[in-house]
Amino acid sequence: MFSKTYDAVIVGGGVIGASILAQIARSGQIKTVLLEKMSFGMNGPTAKSGGMLRTYHPDSYLSDLAYESMPHFMNFEQLYGSSCGYTKTGLIVVEPAERLDAVKKEVERINRQSPVLEWKQGPGDAFGSSICTGKQDIAIFEERAGYANPSLTAQAWVNFSRGCGMDAMEGIAVTELMVKNGKATGVRTTAGNIAADIIIVAAGAWSKKIVEQAIGRSAPIRSKAIQMDAFIRPDKTEAPLPFTDYTNQLYGKQGAGSVHMIGLPVDQWDIDPDQEEAVDPVLAEHTRVCAAGRLDWVKGALYAGGKRSFDAYCTNGRGWTGQVDGVEGLLVCTGWGGGGFKVAPAVGKIIAELAEKCLDRKRKVFQIKEC
Ligand SMILES: Cc1cc2nc3c(=O)[nH]c(=O)nc-3n(C[C@H](O)[C@H](O)[C@H](O)COP(=O)(O)OP(=O)(O)OC[C@H]3O[C@@H](n4cnc5c(N)ncnc54)[C@H](O)[C@@H]3O)c2cc1C
Repeated sequence: MFSKTYDAVIVGGGVIGASILAQIARSGQIKTVLLEKMSFGMNGPTAKSGGMLRTYHPDSYLSDLAYESMPHFMNFEQLYGSSCGYTKTGLIVVEPAERLDAVKKEVERINRQSPVLEWKQGPGDAFGSSICTGKQDIAIFEERAGYANPSLTAQAWVNFSRGCGMDAMEGIAVTELMVKNGKATGVRTTAGNIAADIIIVAAGAWSKKIVEQAIGRSAPIRSKAIQMDAFIRPDKTEAPLPFTDYTNQLYGKQGAGSVHMIGLPVDQWDIDPDQEEAVDPVLAEHTRVCAAGRLDWVKGALYAGGKRSFDAYCTNGRGWTGQVDGVEGLLVCTGWGGGGFKVAPAVGKIIAELAEKCLDRKRKVFQIKEC
């Protein structure tokens, strides 16, 4: 089945695997194949994602990843040859009063690179967003923020990479990672084995099982449920800007027509990513109550159903972008818990650079042995 040999194999063609392939393709140094068990960008969180893009995070590590990623979405056609559906809407982040000093510091830090954020504290309609803030709330506004289409983005990265000579195959599942004497040697798949010096696992919530099988110990990845609920905006109510509210852990975005999608965290961990989860109506009602504090109209709004999905979370809250300890050439890229889309270009680049370093090391060792 596999007539070619590869330096690297990527497991999982969601938005992260596709981004890694595209970043590898841009430097063109590593012969790589991407394997997806279903269709590119059409399974798991990538297919259900809200696709919101913003820079500001309470954690500066995540702000930096998002800051570096944003221009990729804004200049997508120029960089990758087709559209990712980037739509600039502006976006509001709300933070609680006790975080004032930290917010000021982080906004100033980001704005020193380029002035993309504005902030203010106090009651009202934050930056004309239709998001209601309380007396002490801090609102942070980013004009260039918005959303893009994660499935389209993944497919565009795959097409771009193929144009640069990379391979990408759908309908092929990786069944086992092959590791010998502490080194990655390739993967077993439903279509035969592939030998490769580098294995990059970007299989989202599926990564845990396959990595743990290979390393024989626990990996710091967990799956967690995500639920977004749809409320219908009454006629003549202005569409609010997308928002992330760290005070109430809420987030929201306009859907099609007068639908507004709102989410609250779900405390349901370690779910089976292959199992469809039903929407929890109790959580939907709780979401309505919480959201009504920010968007008054939600109180009496018609409920239009929800969608339940999941994402991979990492115990450090910063995702796992790196090499697995003790296994040379085994890299993992997953775990941004509901926020992986907006950092995909930056983490793709980190992994592409790591893969190049791994391969350089291997080639040097080979040259020394040949001498
Ligand atoms: C409802 C919802 C809203 C979200 N909103 C946002 C948002 O607004 N902004 C944002 O930045 N992020 C958001 N996210 C998070 C973001 O979408 C995810 O973090 C991101 O899509 C994860 O991409 P991934 O490629 O790591 O994983 P996945 O999307 O899970 O992709 C993994 C892929 O690997 C494949 N795979 C698994 N096992 C194998 C195997 N053995 N062999 C081959 N292929 C395999 C799967 O089929 C799948 O296609 C949201 C997520 C959800 C669920």
